Amino acid sequence: MAKIQMTTPLVEMDGDEMTRILWQLIKDELLLPYIDLKTEYYDLGLEHRNETDDQVTIDSANATLKYGVAVKCATITPNAARMEEYHLKKMWKSPNGTIRSILDGTVFRAPILVKGIRPCVRNWEKPITLARHAYGDVYKNTEIRVEGPGKAELVFTAADGTETRELIHDFTGAGVLQGMHNTDKSITSFARACFNYAVDTKQDLWFATKDTISKKYDHTFKDIFQEIYENEYQEKFKELGIEYFYTLIDDAVARVMKAKGGFIWACKNYDGDVMSDMVSSAFGSLAMMTSVLVSPAGVYEYEAAHGTVQRHYYKHLKGEETSTNSVATIFAWTGALRKRGELDSLPELCAFADKLEKATLDTIEGGRMTKDLALITELTDVTVLNSQDFIKAIRETMEK
Ligand code: NAD
Repeated sequence: MAKIQMTTPLVEMDGDEMTRILWQLIKDELLLPYIDLKTEYYDLGLEHRNETDDQVTIDSANATLKYGVAVKCATITPNAARMEEYHLKKMWKSPNGTIRSILDGTVFRAPILVKGIRPCVRNWEKPITLARHAYGDVYKNTEIRVEGPGKAELVFTAADGTETRELIHDFTGAGVLQGMHNTDKSITSFARACFNYAVDTKQDLWFATKDTISKKYDHTFKDIFQEIYENEYQEKFKELGIEYFYTLIDDAVARVMKAKGGFIWACKNYDGDVMSDMVSSAFGSLAMMTSVLVSPAGVYEYEAAHGTVQRHYYKHLKGEETSTNSVATIFAWTGALRKRGELDSLPELCAFADKLEKATLDTIEGGRMTKDLALITELTDVTVLNSQDFIKAIRETMEK
């Protein structure tokens, strides 16, 4: 059978550990036999990031701006232990942080629902899509470890030289300091991305911050959302019968636990980081969560919401069998291929993405799955497969 042709390359960002192993398996078993796969390859594995002084990460983000669609494998964010393990020159920053700050934009994460796996939160009947602001705050912070007494001030020097100063703290002993920022421009595009996505998917939009405590920083987020809503979206929302709802972050968390789902929950960068893991694990597994970064320039980067599954990788290195769930990584590929198909008017490529997603879900609903899902499924006749056999089972389903 002739392979499906592509016209524009996908930006392919390879990664680390167990997900790097899955990446190759997915390509070999599920993509290369069917598609004349065109990619521009960037190796974001930690060793190569270290060799290139992290230039490869920046290059891959710039290629994404050029071509419009990227697919990314999970990558290690170095910490002290990784410095030793990989003999790093520097504690390189989170690749996701670097890419997000170049592309700007918003990350939308939604659970992949399958029959036989019910969310832990019994009242969640529909997916909750998490929209995470992908720029600034603690991910672009500057920190100081204070070793002894002294005065900490926040100083802003305007372009004309005028200084604004605020006392942060009079230290009497050791402590810590942190400075962070965001921009009206980025918050505005975050707000528009969320309102647009709500209109596209006809879902309510919730947004929450801690504006009662953070009267300038968080309040700015609240005000910008409100202004854009009133000026640009209120009418459309009314027509569609959907709502924009603002509340405090602690109230939002409490309400989400009691809700039915079926809405978009917009979160600031850190809240989105934390809450997306909570929502995805409550919906079943971290490995059943799709993630896409949508930039204001109309650029898309697809990835799995989980990390590199380090524990499984160490087992794999010892020659032991692993049962790592590849669903989110497969859906990162299908998301990217479908988007490429839409942009390049290649209906066959879009149809292939649909077919691969369906084969993946059918395989699980037919009782063949990885261990993480077997532990939570309500199905009774279940075969637990190892990492490789699960991917092969999907291929079998697809061939049928
Ligand atoms: P992780 O997502 O790799 O694992 C968290 C837990 O979920 C583990 O218990 C793991 O076994 C389980 N899990 C996650 N994905 C799974 C899958 N596909 N199948 C089965 N079980 C799965 O996160 P972590 O352990 O905190 O981090 C490991 C590494 O991943 C770290 O170096 C971290 O920097 C990196 N990380 C990368 C990304 C990214 O690139 N997007 C995101 C998070 C963490």
